[in-house]
Amino acid sequence: MKRRTFNQLLRQLALAQIVLPPVLQACGREEEIFVPYDGHIAIIGAGAAGLYAADLLLSKGYSCSVYEASNRIGGRLAKNESFADFPIDLGAQWLHGKKNLLGDLIQQTNTATQEDDSEIWFWHGQQLRKNLPKDLFGLFERENQLPDISFQDFATQNGFDASYQYLVEAIAGDSGASGDNISTFWKIKEEENWSSGDQDYKFARTYFDLIHDHLAPSVLPYLQLETPITKIDYSGEEIQLTAANGARFTADKVILTVPISILKAGMIQFTPALSETQSQAFQKIGMEAGMKVFLKFSQSFYKENLLGGQICAAYIDERVGKTGNDHVLLAFLMGQQARDLAARGSDTAIIQALLGELDQIYDGQASRYFQQGLVKNWAAEPYIQGAYSYSTIGMGNARKEAARSAGNKIYFAGEAMNTNGHHQTVFGAAETGKTAVEKLLKEI
Ligand SMILES: Cc1cc2nc3c(=O)[nH]c(=O)nc-3n(C[C@H](O)[C@H](O)[C@H](O)COP(=O)(O)OP(=O)(O)OC[C@H]3O[C@@H](n4cnc5c(N)ncnc54)[C@H](O)[C@@H]3O)c2cc1C
Repeated sequence: MKRRTFNQLLRQLALAQIVLPPVLQACGREEEIFVPYDGHIAIIGAGAAGLYAADLLLSKGYSCSVYEASNRIGGRLAKNESFADFPIDLGAQWLHGKKNLLGDLIQQTNTATQEDDSEIWFWHGQQLRKNLPKDLFGLFERENQLPDISFQDFATQNGFDASYQYLVEAIAGDSGASGDNISTFWKIKEEENWSSGDQDYKFARTYFDLIHDHLAPSVLPYLQLETPITKIDYSGEEIQLTAANGARFTADKVILTVPISILKAGMIQFTPALSETQSQAFQKIGMEAGMKVFLKFSQSFYKENLLGGQICAAYIDERVGKTGNDHVLLAFLMGQQARDLAARGSDTAIIQALLGELDQIYDGQASRYFQQGLVKNWAAEPYIQGAYSYSTIGMGNARKEAARSAGNKIYFAGEAMNTNGHHQTVFGAAETGKTAVEKLLKEI
């Protein structure tokens, strides 16, 4: 997800009506927040939200355990160090502004980052162009009242024909969605409180390393991997958790950080059942397929950022911001494009399709210089099942309803529960971990 293109513009619109974010205003009242509590807290999921919450609780001496379904930490943060001569992020990659919790961590730990100001080009009307005949981005700027219809419908109604469809997919894809599903109105409304800044950064190493090196170490002794929780019974005094293999655990409070896709799919059974309002709120939050395909070439023939292509709307030079000699191009696909490409079946078929499209754009150079490919399909991860949450048509205050605690016992966190405009991001996920801890301790 690279936000400089569209999201930056949308945030500028939203910032015209800026409201200060309520999140983390409690920072200055630490003593009041961290009240004595000797109950046991179970955290479900070891992504950014779960690790942030666990690290915070453990640093203040609380008792907690972390249960993670997969065989590794990080969730939608992951890295590969063998594909190229620099480490690549298989999941989240860009830090969208530094005025946030993880920006603070980066500063405290002297983590090396670099501004990403790479140039954007378009493949439009079978030509490589720096500028477009008509300004689709400007459309959003000109309108006073954006309607609650899809990006695609909004573009079509305003005279952008099929030749702009790739751009609609690219800007919707930036937000993890298909052009047909994301709401023009709610996309902007939901980011009204964005306060992290507009500059994108890349990590000299990877985003995963930040979490791995600075949040995970304190948590590892309390972590159980390969423990998917399937049932949460909070009907009695003590909460009973059941894992897929039948193992049982108890806790006094639970912080649940699984992706919204897992809640939408009903993969965790609650006793008593969650309220109808909360269950409906889960369904209103969007989450679609997402895929990253890395293509290594013996030489570079491509633009740093290219929006275009019927198969993949965004091709990005992976080496920007990294130190290395290998030439790696990232094909970034979300929503329908990710589903369509995955439907080709094998990784080989996926890679061949992308090379075919790149050959058209770059005169056969893709096949000529191709060395190796790597496919990461996030929809195929059994405990992730997609990319990140987005604003659907008719969404309303679904995130607020979804994030309500159940019976003062279960606290919901994870990027989709962020109500401060920082959903979809890693630091937004961390913020919800912190907010869940604060709420939990306030309500004991
Ligand atoms: C391709 C891609 C690109 C992205 N790019 C960016 C980017 O550039 N910048 C950015 O800020 N963000 C980006 N994001 C989004 C970012 O990765 C997420 O917002 C963030 O990492 C989510 O953290 P989380 O803790 O909420 O969820 P997750 O990281 O998904 O963690 C949830 C954890 O819960 C576990 N789990 C699920 N079910 C169970 C269960 N039943 N029992 C126990 N554990 C369970 C999962 O295995 C997972 O480890 C990207 C995401 C993707 C997929």
